[in-house]
Amino acid sequence: MDGQLTFLGTGTSMGVPTLGCACAVCTSADPHDRRLRPSALVRWRDADGGPERVVVIDTGPDFREQALRAGVTRVDAVLYTHGHADHILGMDDLRPLSYIAFHEGGPIPLYATEETAKVLNHVYDYTFSPEATYSHRAKVQLEPLGERTNVHGVEFVRIPVLHGDMEISGFRFGNTAYLTDVSAIPESSFALLTGLEHLVLSALRHKPHPSHATLEQALAWALRIGARHTWLTHIAHELGHEETNRTLPQSVRLAYDGLTIPVCVGL
Ligand SMILES: [Zn+2]
Ligand SMILES: [Zn+2]
Repeated sequence: MDGQLTFLGTGTSMGVPTLGCACAVCTSADPHDRRLRPSALVRWRDADGGPERVVVIDTGPDFREQALRAGVTRVDAVLYTHGHADHILGMDDLRPLSYIAFHEGGPIPLYATEETAKVLNHVYDYTFSPEATYSHRAKVQLEPLGERTNVHGVEFVRIPVLHGDMEISGFRFGNTAYLTDVSAIPESSFALLTGLEHLVLSALRHKPHPSHATLEQALAWALRIGARHTWLTHIAHELGHEETNRTLPQSVRLAYDGLTIPVCVGL
């Protein structure tokens, strides 16, 4: 089934430009060098000509602006990679869309591991707590993220990856995989990444970081996995778009905010 993947944001946790920084990338005039916090959108239309289906991967602090820019008018489900601020702090901006979804048949499901759900429950106590009395809370419901999550017929396979000492979630859907905040990929996860057309992979910068891969490490994984196209995301301000792309093999490119690629989401 044909679908689309849109990069809502391709920046690292602090975004690019980074507050207080006057480096060449932060002051660049190239719009590709402006990166909001990392998030992605998967869309497809049901085979029977039904409504467009929209799945969001992570709702970071820039979610509202990103959703406006991408023309998002509905969300069928959210999949969370992990509970860090740059991936969850826009959850409350689902409120207006959740009221629409609720009228159509229930709260928006938010799929999260137990560890991520714990953070969401804590941060959004006024939304999830059974004692919460805030009447304008988002109509959302935490659902356990298992090995496979089916959203209106499209299967999202969880791909475990390491982010420092945390195990977090990447996702494979059809011929595409989305892996962010990666510092290591377990052997068992490489086995889930065969035959890809598109691989999205995080690549922070050149200098090592305890919980993120360097560009060089991401490149080595990209070549090993061998997707036809690899798109790098979660990019810090050390990597300028044009100058970095010039150093990469043709099959590997830095993604940028708003980039939309056609993907196959399943049979
Ligand atoms: Zn992150
Ligand atoms: Zn993180």
